[in-house]
Amino acid sequence: MDPLKVLIIGGGVAGPTLAYWLSRIGANITLIERSPNMRATGQQVDLRAHGVPMMQKMGIEAAVRAASVPEAGTQLVDVRGRVKAFFPAERSGTGMQSFTSEYEIMRGDLVRILYGLTETRRNVRHLFGATVDAFTQDDERDPDGKVHVRFADGRSEDYDLVVGADGAASKTRKMMLGPGAPDPRFRRGSYIGYFSVPAAPGDSDRGTFCHLPGRDVSRVVGTRKDRADLTRVYMIMRGKYPPLDAAYQSGALAELKKAWGDLYQDGGWECRRFTEALRHAPEADDLYCTPFEEVRLPQGGWSRGRVVLLGDSAYCQTAGGFGCTWSLVGAYVLAGEIATLRARAGVSRSEAVIQGAKNYEERFRPLATAGHGGAQIFDYLFLPRSPLGIGLLHACASAAAYFRLDRKASMETRVASLKLPDYPELEGE
Ligand SMILES: Cc1cc2nc3c(=O)[nH]c(=O)nc-3n(C[C@H](O)[C@H](O)[C@H](O)COP(=O)(O)OP(=O)(O)OC[C@H]3O[C@@H](n4cnc5c(N)ncnc54)[C@H](O)[C@@H]3O)c2cc1C
Repeated sequence: MDPLKVLIIGGGVAGPTLAYWLSRIGANITLIERSPNMRATGQQVDLRAHGVPMMQKMGIEAAVRAASVPEAGTQLVDVRGRVKAFFPAERSGTGMQSFTSEYEIMRGDLVRILYGLTETRRNVRHLFGATVDAFTQDDERDPDGKVHVRFADGRSEDYDLVVGADGAASKTRKMMLGPGAPDPRFRRGSYIGYFSVPAAPGDSDRGTFCHLPGRDVSRVVGTRKDRADLTRVYMIMRGKYPPLDAAYQSGALAELKKAWGDLYQDGGWECRRFTEALRHAPEADDLYCTPFEEVRLPQGGWSRGRVVLLGDSAYCQTAGGFGCTWSLVGAYVLAGEIATLRARAGVSRSEAVIQGAKNYEERFRPLATAGHGGAQIFDYLFLPRSPLGIGLLHACASAAAYFRLDRKASMETRVASLKLPDYPELEGE
């Protein structure tokens, strides 16, 4: 059988994972990343639920454990720094997870581990600083049909399959849906910003979050700690704050820093220190800001013929806690469905790719979108802005911590009954 020729657009978490699985069935893969180098940046992410057996299947558990962040748990504090509720990290090995998972890792370390799986494979080519300008594809009924791709550097090439793993703002998705199609991103009116500051004595080894009272917008500020010299700051806001909208639109670091700094300046707790760092500390130049959004494509919308979406481009839910998990699982299901059909007699390569992409969506959509649509309830419960609302949240969180409801009410419990398929075709080399 001639190997499939595959183009994967986006070298984040989903892209390299798919490259790994498809390389196991002998596909010839080109993985392109827009950035000039591997984009191994970002703050703490985690693997949970089905992401844990998936990581084990990929043989990277030891590497993930070796790079993992030893966060002691997650706590809520008030503006005077007093602990209101503490949820210890889950270390039971039972697969049950708390807010701090057993597998907390810096995004950059995870990306490096995933690239490492295919770096020396001869059938995987990694190209940096590369993007696609346009593509067309042959009729779906053509058994040898291709996707004809034009790269930004003017080159053209044909592929059996093109995968858009280029994140929530996916250009591949835009091209696949065509001009005039509605943007499937649903904005929740909130933003999250992360950046680093120099560490200070007393910075907690717990994920620490403080709700700040305010009249117009909800504001939360938090810290996490993966190394001694730096503390990672998280700022989450909800409500109308035009300077942040404008700064996000511009993408200019100085504007983003100013908008976050102005919004949190008078917040209490450690806000003065963090906003000073935004103004003056070079460590804060790693500020990354994104709106809370969900990608809500209609049923059957994850693929068009031989072009398919994977990861945040298909089913993003910002800060839902499952971005990396669903990237790993989605890549396995997509590769598995294609591999299953490829192994079946009488199925053309076009059919294997087109039907495989449809089967992937059918099987995986219920898992990947299990958390979609809960935004209003989440915001109502977890982003109060009045002192009374914050007090109530603290009281409820304290009771929840006592009864360990964080384990019982977790998404893991909700999605546990949704079983993952096994793909024997992917297991051998
Ligand atoms: C720089 C960065 C930092 C992040 N930090 C965090 C974090 O701290 N915490 C968190 O929970 N989540 C973070 N995320 C999001 C998280 O990685 C994803 O939600 C999740 O892992 C899903 O992964 P993905 O591979 O689908 O998308 P992403 O991880 O977003 O990867 C998409 C990749 O595609 C590349 N790309 C985009 N457009 C193109 C294009 N046109 N052509 C070629 N390549 C393109 C991007 O540069 C990126 O490398 C971050 C994402 C990025 C890109």
